[in-house]
Amino acid sequence: MTSPHTFDFPPYRPPSEAQSMLLRVTHGCPWNKCAFCSMYKKYPFARKPMAEIKADIDLMPTVYGSGANHVFLGDSNSLLLSADDLVEILTHLYSVFPNLKRVTSYARAKTVLKKSAADLKRICEAGLTRLHIGLESGSDKVLQLIHKGPTADEIIEGSLKSKAAGFQCSIYVLLGIGGMEYTMDHRQGTIRVLNAIDPHFIRVRTLTPIPKSDIARWIAEGSFTQVSPLVSIEEERDIVAGLNVNSRFLNDHASNIVPLDAQLPADKEQMLVALDRGIEYCKKNEVGYADYRYL
Ligand code: SF4
Repeated sequence: MTSPHTFDFPPYRPPSEAQSMLLRVTHGCPWNKCAFCSMYKKYPFARKPMAEIKADIDLMPTVYGSGANHVFLGDSNSLLLSADDLVEILTHLYSVFPNLKRVTSYARAKTVLKKSAADLKRICEAGLTRLHIGLESGSDKVLQLIHKGPTADEIIEGSLKSKAAGFQCSIYVLLGIGGMEYTMDHRQGTIRVLNAIDPHFIRVRTLTPIPKSDIARWIAEGSFTQVSPLVSIEEERDIVAGLNVNSRFLNDHASNIVPLDAQLPADKEQMLVALDRGIEYCKKNEVGYADYRYL
């Protein structure tokens, strides 16, 4: 007797997809080398058979009901699938949920670059509307240090290519990822890259060394100096001050010290005031990592 098909949830999704239906189309991360990340270490990368993906889509009305109208495709880089496969998945998804307003996925900039402009447009027109792309830092020294894979220019090129195809572009920045050694490179490079991309969304996180990650080991060995909460806010203040973009800017993660949800350029002065308040607070109160979310 064959066992009934059970729904396969992706293990991670961006905070902005907390209310979204989750659909797993691959397992794990095909790169899996970033020094700060251990999210997918225990999930070897694998593609899912199309029949299983469609069976999951058919189960989604039972799992989620009819209320949700956003979908996130997991795991870490769904764009790795061929354009034909993605269009087939999206077509089936929209046939089951004709009123979907948003379908999003993580994507690596190098993967975007490997796809033709025509294929990216086909995927976007089939209904994948937003790509979440990890920049972490715009400094090539930092990107190399953390084994991110692409150069800063490749991330610019991939992000602009995704925008040109019609995707909303959501870019992730990681405060503290250069350590004290590269904090100034990190700030300057990140400003340059974000200004070049002018993404729809900039989402900021603060480095939290995960046990057993390369970064945690480097800190223990003394080759990487974690920035203090004060320096992480100073990094963000410098980055915001240097931005000339039309992006929604969000500190929408528990790792962030100062909560921000703002629209650039209109809210820039208010953002700088909030960050200055955070800097002053850290200076007066010797804020440590256990004290995040003090506001
Ligand atoms: S940060 Fe993204 S690309 Fe890097 S290892 Fe983690 S999931 Fe993979």
